[in-house]
Amino acid sequence: MRLLWMQAGACGGDTLSLLCADNPPLEQLIDEGLELLWQPSLSTGSTRRLMQIIADVTADRTPLDILCVEGSLITAPRNTGLWDPLGGRGKKDVIAELAGVAHQVLAVGTCAAYGGVHAAPPNPADCVGMQFSGIAPGGLLAADWRSRSGLPVINLAGCPTHPNTIAKVLAFLLRGVPLELDQWQRPIDFFASMVHQGCTRNEYHEYDMEDAALGGRGCLFFNLGCQGPLTLAPCNQELWNNRSSKTRAGVPCFGCTSPGFPRDGDLFRTEKLGHIPLKLPLGVQRAHYMAYKDLAQGAAPERLIRREMEP
Ligand code: SF4
Repeated sequence: MRLLWMQAGACGGDTLSLLCADNPPLEQLIDEGLELLWQPSLSTGSTRRLMQIIADVTADRTPLDILCVEGSLITAPRNTGLWDPLGGRGKKDVIAELAGVAHQVLAVGTCAAYGGVHAAPPNPADCVGMQFSGIAPGGLLAADWRSRSGLPVINLAGCPTHPNTIAKVLAFLLRGVPLELDQWQRPIDFFASMVHQGCTRNEYHEYDMEDAALGGRGCLFFNLGCQGPLTLAPCNQELWNNRSSKTRAGVPCFGCTSPGFPRDGDLFRTEKLGHIPLKLPLGVQRAHYMAYKDLAQGAAPERLIRREMEP
């Protein structure tokens, strides 16, 4: 199965993620039949070699099973894409042409999926995602665009994407396992549970034990901007490097797998209405939450109030 990886407006973080994957590792995928036609950090050929690969793929001389796109698509100036050129054209046009002949198209990272950091206001390079512009359907490709497999762009959201999400999705495709996508075109197998689930601060959340400064053991939702209860991602189910996650390291979840990422405002501060966060955990009603919050704090066990880990 042939894979071509194109990097557009990117920091390279998703490539680093791919290299960190260990379940399964990239080497195993290659042993199972994944052929990397081109990956910017792993391929040693010249740009001329890349242009030849692109010519062969777009002319259908080399079948392309998987096109991976990393980074937002730069469309400036005036929709030419020439601020990010390749072979005398905007790279975005080359990528659109490759998508037209690929069996599957993966947007690896939130920038490729929705525009991400580079598309944040004022978006000077007019960046878009592959098939979304933020939460609006339609990006480089129209909302009703479909690859040769019949699927839309598969969005492996994350800033960066979790290493093993990339590797497992590639393994699914290699083995012919079907992928079901959610409304944001993310594979449900990897984006069905919240970052909040599995967070070691969860008990503090339940009893409304709020941290007001970084460095504590309490929940980061009420004051410090944590988006864990609003964000679908595997970060606390499958730890990064088998070891940690943002919230385990004491950093609030920024909601980087969401199409609206990065949100406008201070990432380390929770916006509130009165003493209640403006945005509540997914699906929770404000009136119920207010009643719960007042009761929860009163019922908190002493060991949590003292910020002790064990009873
Ligand atoms: S720190 Fe964030 S993810 Fe952890 S329990 Fe609090 S809200 Fe949930």
